[in-house]
Amino acid sequence: MEYTDAPSTQTEDTMLCPNCGQRLPAGSESCDQCGWKREETAEGTASDAMAALLSIVPGLGHVYKGYRGIGLLFAIGTLIVLGFSGLAAIASAGFGLGLAVFYWIGVAMHAYAIKDHVFPSEKDEGEQY
Ligand SMILES: [Zn+2]
Repeated sequence: MEYTDAPSTQTEDTMLCPNCGQRLPAGSESCDQCGWKREETAEGTASDAMAALLSIVPGLGHVYKGYRGIGLLFAIGTLIVLGFSGLAAIASAGFGLGLAVFYWIGVAMHAYAIKDHVFPSEKDEGEQY
């Protein structure tokens, strides 16, 4: 095995600051040298949980994170899915409602996983007439 680019001084329990290159303990949340802070953790942020919670109304979680277009799309999609699953439920003695539940869970998980995308400007509201 060859290690071409890996610095020989790099060990498992240190990391380099992505902003200034200062050597920090592994898993550091911030850098004393330049004030860099880790923005995201693997567990997700409070707004992730909030977005998933708001997805009780599908689309609301996306709007909360700044995705107005997608949120609107999911809200409309919900009506369509509910309509179809309602018809399917009539045809399949209730099983069709499972489709709506899967859709619901999918929207909530997507709202949780999607990155915050909040625009302070009004520019991105152009798609609404
Ligand atoms: Zn730094």
